[in-house]
Amino acid sequence: MIINMNEQATKEQIQHVIDRVKEAGYQAHITQGEERTIVAAVGSGGRRHELEALAAAAGVAGVVAISDPFKLVSRQAKPQRTVVNVGGVRIGDGSLVVIAGPCSVESREQLLSTAREVKDAGAHLLRGGAYKPRTSPYEFQGLGVEALRLLREVREEFGLPVVTEVMSTEDVDVICEHVDMLQVGARNMQNFALLRRLAVIDKPVLLKRGPSASVKEWLLAAEYLLAGGNRNVVLCERGIKTFETETRNTLDLASAALAREMSHLPVIVDPSHGTGRRSLIAPLSRAAAALGADGLLVEVHPCPERALSDGPQSLDFDGFRHLMKSLAEPMRSPVLVPQHA
Ligand code: PEP
Ligand code: MN
Repeated sequence: MIINMNEQATKEQIQHVIDRVKEAGYQAHITQGEERTIVAAVGSGGRRHELEALAAAAGVAGVVAISDPFKLVSRQAKPQRTVVNVGGVRIGDGSLVVIAGPCSVESREQLLSTAREVKDAGAHLLRGGAYKPRTSPYEFQGLGVEALRLLREVREEFGLPVVTEVMSTEDVDVICEHVDMLQVGARNMQNFALLRRLAVIDKPVLLKRGPSASVKEWLLAAEYLLAGGNRNVVLCERGIKTFETETRNTLDLASAALAREMSHLPVIVDPSHGTGRRSLIAPLSRAAAALGADGLLVEVHPCPERALSDGPQSLDFDGFRHLMKSLAEPMRSPVLVPQHA
């Protein structure tokens, strides 16, 4: 249930509502909007009629039920869009934030040269994997802490905030010391122990959609983060498993648009993992921009043919420049057929 306070509600009236929500057996999550405060009562097993009765409390504008199971992530709970600040870069404020960098951090030279190039071409954030989720145990698994140190060094040298994937609760503290944002990879979207741990950190989380997860499951995974106290969550559509084998995954742009409709959280699109094909990155990035996505995540490598992971879907530096230029080009307009009387 959502308890909407009216614009003139006093601090005491808001506190009274929070106390009553807790007495009724629910958790109270407070959103301070520009004009009014919203108190979301979440949890199960509470006394619902006591919440409904709060409609009569002083300072309350109304009490409404949220029908979505993802109570805090739902747009019903918070109509205004959330803006997530990642080391000074705002995701969700209407601009298209570009996160670029190699799939894996491989060496100092590789990361430095990529950071220099992508920054120069207009990227806002740098990505690079330190702990890699690989299908085969014989494939490159990432440089771990050494990669984290390189990411921090690059961040300091170029002033580009950095994002990297976390696979285990054990690595959360060390990753938080080195980077600005933690990515939950597709394979870990429903790793609930990891989500609970990330709910209590003070860094933003990039939550990728699982390869076989429905939009509802994805939003419920985000709910773990918000319910546990971390509101700085960005959703990332990265393709799902379908019968199609020509592309690595099927980039589900409809669900990216739907997630933005159903939730107030920013939604970004990853056309690299979403297609597995370098040639499709520019067209699908433009499509993502057209649907209103809040950002893009794109893999870039100085020499994709030598990449230790995801070479076929990585852009080289020229390709990335080309992509950034193509994003600035105007969209096509329809040819209007002249009307004859
Ligand atoms: C990645 O970002 O390199 C990655 C492994 O992504 P995903 O979890 O979407 O496969
Ligand atoms: Mn990758």
